[in-house]
Amino acid sequence: MPGRNKLLKQCESYTRGSRFTVRCRCKGNLMKTGHYRCKYHAGMSTGPTSITGQLNSLKNLPQYKNKTDEYILNAIRKNRKYYREA
Ligand SMILES: [Zn+2]
Repeated sequence: MPGRNKLLKQCESYTRGSRFTVRCRCKGNLMKTGHYRCKYHAGMSTGPTSITGQLNSLKNLPQYKNKTDEYILNAIRKNRKYYREA
């Protein structure tokens, strides 16, 4: 059928209606935890994870509008425990 990705695997969650005995039948993506989760069981968005993505997202905020890139990068490094250099 068009529009359905055959590369995606079945979601590994169990449905609440079956009291967690029947597997979810949606197709899902591989997550960081190593499980396949569909769009209904994946949870909320993690937001930008790379340092450039965080920089671009913070540039849109009014409090960082007139700040330099170095200032924003220092703020990211100061406020986050874990970040990815990319
Ligand atoms: Zn699911």
